[in-house]
Amino acid sequence: MKALFWFFALWASTALAQVHPAPCGTPTPTQLPFPEEIALQKMAAPPPYVFSIFVHILRNDDGSNAAMTDAVLAQNLQRMADFYRPHNICFTFVGRDFIDNTVWNTNYMTSEIGAMHAINPHSDAIDIYVHRDNFQGMGGNAYNIPSVFCSVAAPSSFNFEHEMGHCLGLWHTFETAAGAECPDGSNCATAGDQVCDTPADYGGSDSNNGPGCTHTGTQTINCNGGTFGYAPPTRNIMSYWWFCYSEFTAGQAVRMYNTINATAALQDRFTPQDRVISNATLLGEIAVGAQNSIRIGNIGGTGDVLMTAGAQGICNAGRFVQVEPGTRILPTGTNSVLLTINDLCEGLLFKGPLPVADRRPQTTTPVASGETLEAFPNPFSGRLRVRADLGQAVPTALRLFDLSGRLARELPCPAPAQGRFDETFDLPDLPPGVYLLQLQHSSGRLVCRVVKAE
Ligand SMILES: [Zn+2]
Repeated sequence: MKALFWFFALWASTALAQVHPAPCGTPTPTQLPFPEEIALQKMAAPPPYVFSIFVHILRNDDGSNAAMTDAVLAQNLQRMADFYRPHNICFTFVGRDFIDNTVWNTNYMTSEIGAMHAINPHSDAIDIYVHRDNFQGMGGNAYNIPSVFCSVAAPSSFNFEHEMGHCLGLWHTFETAAGAECPDGSNCATAGDQVCDTPADYGGSDSNNGPGCTHTGTQTINCNGGTFGYAPPTRNIMSYWWFCYSEFTAGQAVRMYNTINATAALQDRFTPQDRVISNATLLGEIAVGAQNSIRIGNIGGTGDVLMTAGAQGICNAGRFVQVEPGTRILPTGTNSVLLTINDLCEGLLFKGPLPVADRRPQTTTPVASGETLEAFPNPFSGRLRVRADLGQAVPTALRLFDLSGRLARELPCPAPAQGRFDETFDLPDLPPGVYLLQLQHSSGRLVCRVVKAE
């Protein structure tokens, strides 16, 4: 009998999962944060709050199949920012990179967050990971409430705003970890999502949807001495009515303010008001933002700045970026440093396209010592010479990818003697731009960046 019960319980939950694929895998909260503040609806420090965000785009091992293009990423970040801006929570984009891992891109298990977050994490920005496919039936996961990183699946990109809500302390409107919320509002401050201007909701309410985001369900709950039906918040971003997402409430904003004020790790990710970069040699990643200004150079006689940018860099300020005399910006090879400006809380997150330099590609395939891949001249115009030494390995493919991960050109694969080759390719009709030249071989791959000049 007991076995039969579990069979039906399993069958019922499986059937339910098929009817309602979960938009989000953020776990049930395990503690009740700041109940006294929520009950009093008070704020410790006033907004606006401006957070730096850094985005990691997952790609396959070979750099192909990018989870999202820069253009679509810009749309999603802009939409997220537009939902938060009315509540004086804003975002500074400080950059993005690629993480090349086919499994994490297309068949991600949320238990792998530790390994993934270990690659280029940011102590001064909220990290957002973008995967190609829904993972384990979910379109997003903030891993904890609150959190300083989250994942979003590209086909469920409405979860940018939803997972950020979890990061900043919001629970699902149908959450019952603190007890079920009574639709009469009698326990709204201590049960459900613990926010009083979001009506009581229940798991699966989104399956009872009529035209115009109306709720047609008839489920009732016995509470506070009566029996009540539901009028769930069908347009709320922390519900599962993702197809109707259009708002956070004032009460949710207060909840986020309280969470931010009680969470040092979130405060660490505030974008500073102004930023001075002086007397410094900056190597590798340069990813800084400022709400107002970034001044770079010999400030107050402390010394000049040298940016050697072996990786790509972004300095993104709300008002202006000022480069003092004496500053040297010397990107190596085809790297670059972008000095960009946006309006932050006052307007758009981006002026024009997403200000993305092609940031440091990450690879999970270690390069064997002694292997080399060179391409020159770089930048090139019509002809590109490629030289490689693979030791004992045999080349299997030579390809050019553009920066969104699309295959731009399949080159004839050389058949070298003793692992070395030196070939020249005519590419007069390849459009100008930055490309990744990828040499696949029998035991790994090598990548180098090349630029086709105008
Ligand atoms: Zn969620």
